[in-house]
Amino acid sequence: FVIIRAGKPRPYVIVLIVKPALEVNPNAGLFLWTVYPGYCIIAIVNDLSAIDIRYLKGVGPKRAGLFNKLGVYFVEDLFYYFPRRYEDRSRISSISRLRIGESQTVRVRILRTYERRSFKQRNLSVFEALVEDTTGRMPCVWFNQPYLRNYLKAGTEVVLYGRPAIHGKSFQMQNPEYEIVEDDKHAANLNYGRIVPVYSLTEELSQRMFRRLIRACLDEYLPRMSEILPYDIRKRNNLLNIASSILNMHFPQDAASQGRAYKRILFEECFLLQLIFGLKRQKGAKVKGTSHRIEEDLLARFEDSLPFKLTSSQKRVIQEIRADMSLPKPMHRLLQGDVGSGKTIVALYACLIAASNGYQSAFMAPTELLAEQHYQNISSQLSAFSCQGRALQVRLLVSATPKKEKEKILKDLKSGEIDILVGTHALIQMGVEFKNLSLAVIDEQHKFGVHQRLSMLAKGSNPDCLIMTATPIPRTLAMVIYSDLDVSTLDELPAGRLPVKTCLIQEEKRQWVYDFARRNIKEGRQAYIVYPIIEESENLDLKSAVSMYEELSQDVFKEFKVELIHGRLKPQKRSRIMRSFKEGKTDILVSTVVIEVGVDVANASVMVIEHAERFGLSQLHQLRGRIGRGQYESHCILIGSPDSQEAGLRLKAMVEENDGFKIAQRDLELRGPGEFFGVRQHGLPELRVNPLEDIEQLHIAKQEAESLLKLDPGLSQRQNQGLNRVLRDRFPDYEKLTQA
Ligand code: ADP
Ligand code: MG
Repeated sequence: FVIIRAGKPRPYVIVLIVKPALEVNPNAGLFLWTVYPGYCIIAIVNDLSAIDIRYLKGVGPKRAGLFNKLGVYFVEDLFYYFPRRYEDRSRISSISRLRIGESQTVRVRILRTYERRSFKQRNLSVFEALVEDTTGRMPCVWFNQPYLRNYLKAGTEVVLYGRPAIHGKSFQMQNPEYEIVEDDKHAANLNYGRIVPVYSLTEELSQRMFRRLIRACLDEYLPRMSEILPYDIRKRNNLLNIASSILNMHFPQDAASQGRAYKRILFEECFLLQLIFGLKRQKGAKVKGTSHRIEEDLLARFEDSLPFKLTSSQKRVIQEIRADMSLPKPMHRLLQGDVGSGKTIVALYACLIAASNGYQSAFMAPTELLAEQHYQNISSQLSAFSCQGRALQVRLLVSATPKKEKEKILKDLKSGEIDILVGTHALIQMGVEFKNLSLAVIDEQHKFGVHQRLSMLAKGSNPDCLIMTATPIPRTLAMVIYSDLDVSTLDELPAGRLPVKTCLIQEEKRQWVYDFARRNIKEGRQAYIVYPIIEESENLDLKSAVSMYEELSQDVFKEFKVELIHGRLKPQKRSRIMRSFKEGKTDILVSTVVIEVGVDVANASVMVIEHAERFGLSQLHQLRGRIGRGQYESHCILIGSPDSQEAGLRLKAMVEENDGFKIAQRDLELRGPGEFFGVRQHGLPELRVNPLEDIEQLHIAKQEAESLLKLDPGLSQRQNQGLNRVLRDRFPDYEKLTQA
């Protein structure tokens, strides 16, 4: 009878060596190896972060792959994969009492079904059903789901959940969620007649299947979930235990129990993060970073090389960075500035300081498109500079970099021949080794998680770190979330910029929009036309980039050069298209949100955003930031009709407000409680719940973390072992932080 601890994933296992052969089921957390005939080892894995979801009933390797895409590998991940939102389906309404525009549940019988092609888009199939209950009849439609004919047959009784909308003279439900009543009793309990969780899933996974799986998993494993928060902390703050919290996050009894569960999970998430920050501070007081020597004339030479004068806020921030970099303490600075305020140049100067001291820097951006653009700008802007007697060497590393080239880059990086490495997440992969990284720049940091930031920093020995964002968060929140960072702000735009004019246009005036774009292009400008989706998909009756590209290039704008760009294109093709747009050879770029961040083409002065109501406010502002980057008056035209009050307010805010800080504030106000998603959009770390829901909890978590670290600085006491394990699992550099 021994207890061993294996490597990652680190299960604590109790090993029994026994003689009789047992029936062993890996789902139960039991693993069995035969040692020699008649004897075997049974390992009891007592750790949900080590039970692979592949072995759950109804999953298997293929489905497991789909779960992995969501970041779910082990049972514990599944438990922490919280609903994006909930739907209250506890009350069942009837057809005659349905209210237009609100999501409601009805229980109906299918009278007739029809199938046809869409009138507007011939490649779209439409499945229609006429349904009735004792109070009336209602038509329903589903797009692109022809297989429904196998399930929704005349006579079938179903529960529908959807939002009735006016259609012609009567009303109908579009794409309601359905549940066949006789299906099975258990499923019914999960999918209606209660508050129902809705998860963010990929197309291959259905909500129903996911709910069923989580339910089964909770039944089997929840009792084994171990508590990580020390008892007295829970008691003091009146926090639910972990098992009830997880249960009520997924299948809440009512709104109040979901609220209590949420409070506990939010506390836990923030508490862990604050512990990491606290440990970092402890350690930071001791660590030594690189003290860069600042050459007196470097800044002047840099300014001379630019085609414009730095704004006074750029100068101020440059001074702040200079001061940080010259100290032996590692810099942790957040640079916030609205879209187009000129953050890149500031970061570039920081890279130059590192290079002039013979050190390397890394410049990480969230998309390949943006990384390529930075690479091109940096290479050309720094071409006049040299260090250690040779020209500055800048390289680009993205996941699409060909293997040979990549190997060469990695070799040169290690030997120190590369001064600045620009790239995407590819920079933090294994095998990327710097000779002497002294500066890490992370652009559009709201697109990254804390873990990625930490992994980037782990590539050097306490390098200076500059992270940049155009999506600021309120000060109180920044103090808690970024308590490990100093903040610099660019609060002015370069001189001569005209504010972008924004208007909201209804679908009927589409022709006017096209004419407007045409006039601008004839004057030599360029335009973006942005769509929310790449291709028509099952559930949405929306215009897509691909189909509209056909129409625009072959018909509406056939006199111009129109190109299409989206995330599924091959990287080479994408960068060719982008280059052609940048060089002014393409007049109109039809696109998805791939161009959301960073893309910089000064001659583009028109942006049309279709189905604008589908985008978040910060996202719209980022998109709009692609224009108004040169001396021309720019126009952002939102086409759309808000389908909810919130969408209406979002679009209104866009039309009225140009200032990114104010937009961010409004965005926060608009997101009501219960909406968890968009957390990344605000540049918050990778929390699994949205901390904006309860800022008070953040402060409490911070205080508790600080006092715990005072009592047990290395988290080595017995009651803190649970914390120790979770931190080690979740934060790659935890081990380093706790070492003496
Ligand atoms: P963002 O802050 O959104 O990342 P960028 O760094 O991409 O903005 O800068 C936007 C554009 O403004 C770039 O083309 C850049 O060259 C230009 N720019 C930066 N600083 C100035 C300045 N002081 N005067 C004029 N143009 C500038
Ligand atoms: Mg930028």
